[in-house]
Amino acid sequence: MNSEIDLLVKNARMIDGDKLVDIAISGKKIALVGEEVALPAKLKLNVAGKLTIPGFIDAHMHLDHACLGGDAKWIPRTHEESEKIIREGRKLIDSNGVKEVAAKAAKAVLKNGTTAIRTHVNVDRLFGLRELKAILEFKRECAEWMDLQIVAFPSREALTRSSESESLLKQAMKLGADVVGGLPNVDPDPDGYLEIIFDLAKRYKAKIDLHVDETNDSKSRVLELYAEKALENEYVGKVAASHCSALSAYPQKYAKKVINIVKEAEMSIIANPFTNIYILGQNDKPNGITRVKDLLDSGVNVCYATDNFNDGYNPLGNGDMLLAALFLAYHQRLDGKYSFSKLLEMGTTSAAKATGILENYDIEEGGQADLVVLDAETPWEAIVFQAKRSLVIKKGKIVAKDGVLVI
Ligand SMILES: [Zn+2]
Repeated sequence: MNSEIDLLVKNARMIDGDKLVDIAISGKKIALVGEEVALPAKLKLNVAGKLTIPGFIDAHMHLDHACLGGDAKWIPRTHEESEKIIREGRKLIDSNGVKEVAAKAAKAVLKNGTTAIRTHVNVDRLFGLRELKAILEFKRECAEWMDLQIVAFPSREALTRSSESESLLKQAMKLGADVVGGLPNVDPDPDGYLEIIFDLAKRYKAKIDLHVDETNDSKSRVLELYAEKALENEYVGKVAASHCSALSAYPQKYAKKVINIVKEAEMSIIANPFTNIYILGQNDKPNGITRVKDLLDSGVNVCYATDNFNDGYNPLGNGDMLLAALFLAYHQRLDGKYSFSKLLEMGTTSAAKATGILENYDIEEGGQADLVVLDAETPWEAIVFQAKRSLVIKKGKIVAKDGVLVI
């Protein structure tokens, strides 16, 4: 390769920390990764040994109701009550408002190094396909600076009790949603609910990502049921489960059994530390972050996500993946063997695997040039000191510098 490349990032430290590499970027792709690359480049940036990671992939956000109800006074409340606050907020905006709140959240997280998002979008009887259509438009508008993957999410509606809810979900997939979502725990018939979900996913050849067992109730059994359905439907590797809080409340023996089925189904688990601590940890209840260590030990693909951005579910949510990594490290005591480099991988390459949003996602030749340069030399330093995001590069272009957007 002798022609001039667009951008050459010099002396970048990889997550494993052993050596410094140069990253040559041509267009939107990484053209070459190696030591002392000497290609002519339109722009050269010497990052002087700073830790350089793939852009964070937030595998679970709700962009369509970001910022809605975030100013509601906090009183201990249930999911249903938080949902009411969100619904009231949704009534105050129109389609453009949906795009505006989504853009506000997406730009805020881009500054902090999130370059791709799997967003769940409400598809329900309150506003039908309004949010979905707005987020589909937004997906096209933000494509140069953020990759979005859309999960059609039927809110808290019982699919087995409403043909209208089921029909809306179908229409959402037809319109272009990427992934089938849902919340089987709200249905009096979770088995029937899962049947509907799998039928639809198969019809549209789509992956599935369900909110599962977002409760401290040790009797909640949906994760096991969901993983078994994935096996029955030959949906191995195409399923993800978000939250899985009840898993942390199960007795060890049953937890082990469920984790084995999850592993067999090659199901990815998406932990949401912020919202689980905020919502489930109230009224002296244990907070419900799933069993991250046990899942990792069993070889399950685990990532973490930020879920809610300053909304009625979690007004404190700021969408910062590096902060979510710190929360998870504290809560699960992820140290030693569960190294900080693993945490950075969970927020990047593991999240890519869970979502499939970008293929072959890593800092390597042929990969999309999405990079974050952290003002730190080690993963420990980056997470514990919440390193400044010195540089965010999306599709080969600099999109943020020192926390300031330049798009
Ligand atoms: Zn969610």
